[in-house]
Amino acid sequence: MRRSAGALRHNLARARAFAPGRKVWAVIKADGYGHGMEWAAAALTGHADGFSVSCVEEALALRAAGVSAPVLVLQGARTAAEWDLCSRHGLQPVLHDEAQLAVLADFRGELPGLWIKLDTGMHRLGFAPMKAQTLFQRLRDHPAARRGLHWLTHLACGDQIAHPQNAEQLDRFRHAVAELPGQRSVANSALVISGGAAGSASAEWTRPGIMLYGPSPMEGEVGRDRALRPVMTVTAPLIAVKTLEPGACVGYGATWTAEGSTRAGVVAIGYADGYPRHAPSGTPVLVHGRECPVIGRVSMDMLEIDLNGVPDAVVGDTVTLWGEGLPVERIADAAGTISYELLTRVAGRLRVID
Ligand SMILES: *Cc1c(COP(=O)(O)O)cnc(C)c1O
Repeated sequence: MRRSAGALRHNLARARAFAPGRKVWAVIKADGYGHGMEWAAAALTGHADGFSVSCVEEALALRAAGVSAPVLVLQGARTAAEWDLCSRHGLQPVLHDEAQLAVLADFRGELPGLWIKLDTGMHRLGFAPMKAQTLFQRLRDHPAARRGLHWLTHLACGDQIAHPQNAEQLDRFRHAVAELPGQRSVANSALVISGGAAGSASAEWTRPGIMLYGPSPMEGEVGRDRALRPVMTVTAPLIAVKTLEPGACVGYGATWTAEGSTRAGVVAIGYADGYPRHAPSGTPVLVHGRECPVIGRVSMDMLEIDLNGVPDAVVGDTVTLWGEGLPVERIADAAGTISYELLTRVAGRLRVID
């Protein structure tokens, strides 16, 4: 796997260009979407306004790596010990559930910021929007909120620009926090890109994740359509080349049969490395800059490709599975999943070559 810090910074600049004047929480949860959380933080230090992770453990790993920028913890703190860690390490946790309030009541620590999440229609995390005012009254004098009580929400259908739920959620959020002080954050990558988030126009902070790594989350698009650059390129060597006679079957289950004489190559990557097992015959890979189809089932450590289109390919050549020249969205589409899943599943065995 190769990672491009330049591409990561370029994509952050794109996120800023889509949402001028807003501050950016660069989302680097889930090990930086598979790229390495500490690596992503180092590459974006001085470029992002802060970093966003899921849980306190991730935030502590950032602090241990020397990251001093603001850190937003999307799932917030659960236990008293976690609230305490947030205070000691200057983290900004999200408060999203009644169960957290009980623990918070006994907590006297200060925080650089406390974010309240409102559930405006996704029905995952957050308080009912009608509770915003009550929460504000209850928490405004709490030491945890003294240095800032802020508001966020998350949209369920941002990747579908015309989905009616987007406007509904934005309206609920705007209405709920209209009279309240504090900063706001609404937009993930999809909303940043669609720019249609009129309701997030007044939000000071965006929260882009996937677009920083290159893919577009919008239905039917690839990152290139939005001038985003792939950060991760996954390659593997060709370790065998052979000629198959017509009628020869390939791989487990013998699911692919050569119609004519076929030059086939074996690539040293499989589902144990994070390549999707469900990628069907026909899923593209790149050899010498040309697309070749996967043939047969993906194995644990290997997959096979049809090399008829690249007669000069030999053992030792590099095959690109996704990244530079081959958008990960295409592989995700073929395998019936999304770019997020492929990136976050890349396994440790793929040696990082920086
Ligand atoms: C993961 C996440 C994001 C980033 O989403 P992308 O689609 O990757 O841009 C933003 N906000 C919240 C609450 C998230 O969980």
